Amino acid sequence: MGRMKELFIEQQNEMEADNTFYKGVHDSMIHSYARKAIEEYIEEGETPCPNCHKVSLLRNESNAKCTECAQEFVYVDGGALRFM
Ligand SMILES: [Zn+2]
Repeated sequence: MGRMKELFIEQQNEMEADNTFYKGVHDSMIHSYARKAIEEYIEEGETPCPNCHKVSLLRNESNAKCTECAQEFVYVDGGALRFM
C-alpha cells in the first residue's frame, strides 16, 4: 500500500514537471511572437482608417490596425484594406 502511494506521488510529480516544461515553452513562444508583432508594426501615416477616417493606422506586411478605434484590417490584392 505504501509503495502504491509512492508510485502515485512520483507520477504526479512527473506530470507537474511536464506541465511546467510545456507551459514554459508556450509562454516563450507567445512572448517572442508578441515582440515580433510589435516590432513589425509601423505607422502607415497616409491612409485614413476605413472605419473612423482618422489617419492613425499602423501596418505591417500583411495587416493594419487603427490606434483610434482598434479596428484591425488585412491588406488584400492591390493594397486595399479589408475589415478583419
Ligand atoms: Zn479607426
